[in-house]
Amino acid sequence: MPIYEYHCDQCDHDFEYLVFNAQEPETCPTCNSSQVSRQMSICGFVSKGAGGETVSSSASANSCSGCTATSCTSCGH
Ligand SMILES: [Zn+2]
Repeated sequence: MPIYEYHCDQCDHDFEYLVFNAQEPETCPTCNSSQVSRQMSICGFVSKGAGGETVSSSASANSCSGCTATSCTSCGH
């Protein structure tokens, strides 16, 4: 069961969604906006922090230095 990461362009909210039967979310769970885009679940992919700041909080605690997700499908974390 794949878990995809989505980003809402409306409220800038990142959320994970467990995709059942290839049914993807059409709206943001926070603001109900339909402007959601699927992020690639790849370690090291950071959608924010273009200015140099990193949004990873527990990256140093695991082996994946760039993963900001709690359930990264690429590294298993
Ligand atoms: Zn939203």
